Amino acid sequence: MNIAEYSGVWVFIEVKDGKIVPVSLELLGAGKRLAEKRGVELSGILVGYGVKPLANTAFEYGADAVYVYDDPIFKLYRTETYMRAIIECTNRHKPEIILYGATSTGKDLASAAATDLATGLTADTTILDIDADTGLLQASRPAFGGNIMATILCKKHRPQMATVRPKIMKAMNPIPGRKGEIIEEKISIREEDVRTKVLEIVKSATKQVRIDEADIIVAGGKGLGDAKGFGLIHDFAETIGATVGASRDAVEAGWIEHHHQVGQTGVTVTPKIYFAIGISGAIQHLVGMQNSGLIIAINKDPDAPIFNSCHYGIVGDAFEIVPMLIEQFKRVLT
Ligand code: FAD
Repeated sequence: MNIAEYSGVWVFIEVKDGKIVPVSLELLGAGKRLAEKRGVELSGILVGYGVKPLANTAFEYGADAVYVYDDPIFKLYRTETYMRAIIECTNRHKPEIILYGATSTGKDLASAAATDLATGLTADTTILDIDADTGLLQASRPAFGGNIMATILCKKHRPQMATVRPKIMKAMNPIPGRKGEIIEEKISIREEDVRTKVLEIVKSATKQVRIDEADIIVAGGKGLGDAKGFGLIHDFAETIGATVGASRDAVEAGWIEHHHQVGQTGVTVTPKIYFAIGISGAIQHLVGMQNSGLIIAINKDPDAPIFNSCHYGIVGDAFEIVPMLIEQFKRVLT
C-alpha cells in the first residue's frame, strides 16, 4: 500500500428519518479541525435515497465537498449496500481518514468496511487529533474498563478509520448558504445482486427511546427493589422531562427493556445531567456514563462506589428522597 496516495478527511454522513443525525454534524466539526491542521479538504460521504439536498446542510457545517450516493437501493440501511458504497468510493478517491458516528449504523458499517478495506478501526473514540506532518490520526478512547485512555494509531494502512461517540465533539456553528462541491457517485451493484432483503420493519410497541441523545437521564438500578419500585424512576423522569436509563441488573430483572441499559454492554451516554438512583456504580456501569456533564447519585449505602464517580451524592433511601425531589420539581416546573 502506498500511503502517500491517500489524502483528505471524510465523514460518513448518517441520515435518519430524512435528517442528518446530530453526531455526523459534530464529526464535521471535528473533521474540519483535523483537515485544517493537516492542510487538506473535509468531505462528507452521503448515502441514501432522496438524500442529495442534505449535502447543503453538510456544507453549512464545514464540508468542502460531499460524495453522494443517491439511489433507491439505499432506501433502507443494509450493511451490504452501504459498505459497497464506502469501499468503492474509498478505492476511487483514497481518503486518509474516515470518521463515523458510534451509532448502531456507524459501528456496523465502519467495522464491515474496515474488514474489506483491510485497514484499522478505532471504536468509540472520545478524543481525536492528528500529526500535521505525517497525517497520523491519534484516536483516543477509554480502555481497561475506563481506567486509562489509550491512543490508537494506524501506521501502515489507509484510510485510518474511527467511530466517535455522540455528543463529545463540537459541531461548527453553521454558516447559512455556505457552498461546496457535490460529487455524484454511482454504485456498481444492482438490487438483484444484494443478498439481504428487508421484508418488513416491525416497530416496537413501546416508544423506542434514544438514551444516547438525551440531555437528562434518570437511571435506576437494583436498589429500586422490584418493577413497582422502578416506577419511581419513570415518575421522576416524567416530572423533569428526562429519559429513563437503567443498570444491567434492573434490565435483567425484567423491569425495563435492554435499550435503556447504560454501560459496557448497553449504551454509552453523555447527557448534561445523569441521576444514578439505587445503582452501586460497578465499573461496567461507570464506563457508560462517566462522561456525563453532572452526575447526581442517590444511594442508601455511604460506601457505594458510585459516590467516587459523582459530582453530588445523596446518601439515603430512594423511596424517601425521590418523592421529595418530584414534589419540589413539580412546584418549580409547573
Ligand atoms: P447492585 O450492584 O445490586 O446495586 C444496588 C444499589 O442500590 C446498592 O448500591 C444499594 O446500596 C443501593 N440501594 C438498595 N436499596 C436502596 C434504596 N432503597 N435507596 C437507595 N439505594 C438503594 N452493568 C451495567 O449497569 N451496565 C452494563 O452495561 C454492564 N455490563 C456488564 C458486562 C459484563 C461483562 C459484566 C461482568 C457485568 C456487567 N454489568 C453491567 C453488571 C455490573 O457488574 C453490575 O452487576 C451492575 O451494574 C449492578 O447493577 P446495580 O447497581 O443496579 O445493582
